[in-house]
Amino acid sequence: MERRRAILVRFDDICPTMNWEQWNRAVTVLERYNVKPLIGVIPDCQDEELLIDAPRPDFWQYIKDLQDKGYTVAMHGYLHKYDSATHGIVNVTPRSEFAGHSYEEQLEKIKQGKAVLEQHGIFTDIFFAPAHSYDENTLKALAVNGFKYVSDGASSRTFVREGVLCIPCRSGGCPKIGKKGYYTAVFHAHEWVRPEKADGYIQLEKLCEEYSKDIVSFEEYCKRPEGNAILQKLNEKGYLFYEYTVKPVLRPVVRPIKEFFSQRNNFKR
Ligand SMILES: [Zn+2]
Repeated sequence: MERRRAILVRFDDICPTMNWEQWNRAVTVLERYNVKPLIGVIPDCQDEELLIDAPRPDFWQYIKDLQDKGYTVAMHGYLHKYDSATHGIVNVTPRSEFAGHSYEEQLEKIKQGKAVLEQHGIFTDIFFAPAHSYDENTLKALAVNGFKYVSDGASSRTFVREGVLCIPCRSGGCPKIGKKGYYTAVFHAHEWVRPEKADGYIQLEKLCEEYSKDIVSFEEYCKRPEGNAILQKLNEKGYLFYEYTVKPVLRPVVRPIKEFFSQRNNFKR
């Protein structure tokens, strides 16, 4: 029987110097609900924002232990350093580790990243880029390096692009879960120390509590029905146009209307 609803829990920015206290809070919740997430491991993190704690000495063994527990590991970039002022095919922020670089440069970065992981005994054919920022050359370079899946894209269905199966991830955070469909919920545990992001932890708890039956492993999540590449590219373009062009124009109009009605309803109560 096909599921009406499936949710993938994804954690980004896993590296030896991440905020371990926050990560351990996440693991406690994941274990309580027996959730097996997709975790994005950075092969050789050089992002200063992620140099938080002293490097965990047994980091790679710890990652292997998580794999043994049923967590799925993805390669998340290479250095997690933005060195291109270009946006990718599904994001608009002009900074990237991959998008805008030549195919050869990207091929090298992906090859190096994969080599680092493999040196530590970590094998994966799943990738997602920092800041959701990648382009067609990234996908080509991934395919040549043996990657089969990318946990990203804004299409409604999965589809094969440049030799890689793109499993859409339309939300940058924890999405609103509807009655049916596929949802990738993205978390960054290190951000929970920021007051404006502190509710990320609450969102994780709520998601696991309310939807634990619908949360699936990556292995199951990636088996969702595949779409036609031409139609899915159009679908993605339409979605991105709505998100980045239409929504910002509508927001100042829609928000006061929503607020007016919510205040009116509060008053009625
Ligand atoms: Zn990241």
